[in-house]
Amino acid sequence: MARRPIIAGNWKMHNNKAAARELMDGINYGISKLDASKMPEVVVAPTYTALWQVYELIKNEPKVALAAQNVNPNPKGAYTGEISLEMLADFNVKFVIIGHSERRQMFNETDEFINQKAIAILNAGLIPIICCGETLEQREAGVTDAHLEAQITKALAGISADDVAKSVIAYEPIWAIGTGKSCDAVEANRTIGEIRKVVAKLYSQDVADKIRILYGGSVKPSTIVEQMAQPEIDGGLIGGASLEAESFVALIEGAMQ
Ligand code: PGA
Repeated sequence: MARRPIIAGNWKMHNNKAAARELMDGINYGISKLDASKMPEVVVAPTYTALWQVYELIKNEPKVALAAQNVNPNPKGAYTGEISLEMLADFNVKFVIIGHSERRQMFNETDEFINQKAIAILNAGLIPIICCGETLEQREAGVTDAHLEAQITKALAGISADDVAKSVIAYEPIWAIGTGKSCDAVEANRTIGEIRKVVAKLYSQDVADKIRILYGGSVKPSTIVEQMAQPEIDGGLIGGASLEAESFVALIEGAMQ
């Protein structure tokens, strides 16, 4: 069975309420003209403070799903500044991005914490988008594949085959994020193929064939068609180019070609 592609916009720390409304209105307008039967799964990940606003704008729009940019794996308690899965479920959040390199690097998130989040997300019936990726130093040292294998193995520890099959991985080379320098599509395809082999080794070929693996890192309307033409690349996790309705809709259209 073919894997349904995903185009996911990670808004990061952008967009207050008014800006979120404007962007979402623009996306809704753009996709209203597209053939729903050919569309990828479209996902937007606003900040927590804009979740309610975006939820209101898409609750009658089945073509768009909501993602959160983070979650705390604990059900409730004294965790100042954190948000639980139960709170995200209030807004019909379907996906949660975890393991993003910005959170690993700037907020010291460990593989173990990311694994705890993945387990909690799946237990709550949501879907993790598990990010992984190498630094430029790791790529130049030739340890990319080994590094990704370690990140994925730790992120998936203790998770059942059924849950892994419905999860999403995003391969995001750190040197490509926000730099305008996307990873060469053929090389991204090769690397994602290696990640899929890791899933096959840990679980089975069937699970590896089902899990969706996205590419992220300076994806633009000018790169998406070549990226989506690669057999291993199941879509994109997009930062900068998801912040304008026009370019985000162009990415969706690019994924439909
Ligand atoms: P970018 O970000 O598209 O701006 O490179 C991608 C990401 O961090 O998910």
